[in-house]
Amino acid sequence: MPTTSHSGKMPLEATVIPVTPLRQNCSLLYCVETMKGAIVDPGGDIPLILDSITKKQVTVEKILITHGHFDHCGGAAALSQILGCPIIGPHPDDQFWIDQIPENAQQYGFEGESFTPDQWLKDKDEITLGEERLLVRHCPGHTPGHVVFYNAASHLAIVGDVLFRNSIGRSDFAGGDHQALIQSITEKLWPMGRETVFIPGHGRPSTFGAERDHNPFVADSVLGLMP
Ligand SMILES: [Zn+2]
Ligand SMILES: [Zn+2]
Repeated sequence: MPTTSHSGKMPLEATVIPVTPLRQNCSLLYCVETMKGAIVDPGGDIPLILDSITKKQVTVEKILITHGHFDHCGGAAALSQILGCPIIGPHPDDQFWIDQIPENAQQYGFEGESFTPDQWLKDKDEITLGEERLLVRHCPGHTPGHVVFYNAASHLAIVGDVLFRNSIGRSDFAGGDHQALIQSITEKLWPMGRETVFIPGHGRPSTFGAERDHNPFVADSVLGLMP
């Protein structure tokens, strides 16, 4: 199974499980001390996700969603039933995306279910995983209800489709807003620190510092920001 791990010896660890034909980065996040954790963005391929949970022996207590696109949460309803876990997030402004999951997934030839989250999220909410805490930041722009998750102790962020290694999220979908996206990145992600590793919704991880140096869309030199 293709997985990559966030560097060891951190209080919160992440195993990435690429799922769906769109290779979406579903993450298994867990507190190393208690082995309690969450699945973030189960887009599909439930058997792969269950495999990873079994292999790591994590007690999954929550399903977290960054945004309402089908490749990120089309499997949330099914996984929630199997694991008996609540679905938490995204921000309510993404309900219209969640409602379109079955049609949108079908266009790509796979299945996805809509749902109503057990808990919506808003900016600065906190989520507990074992002894670790995740800070929620509302980052609109790719979708209006997009949220990201940040664990300060491990310098780790899960950013969905807000920011990628050398790229940024698309803002040409319904409810997208390029200016809001740039603002989300500079005002909510950059303060998490240059050393912070982020797992994007697709592709390889990076650090905010590397993107501030080299990202062709949001590098400090491109935006005219002081480093
Ligand atoms: Zn997306
Ligand atoms: Zn995506």
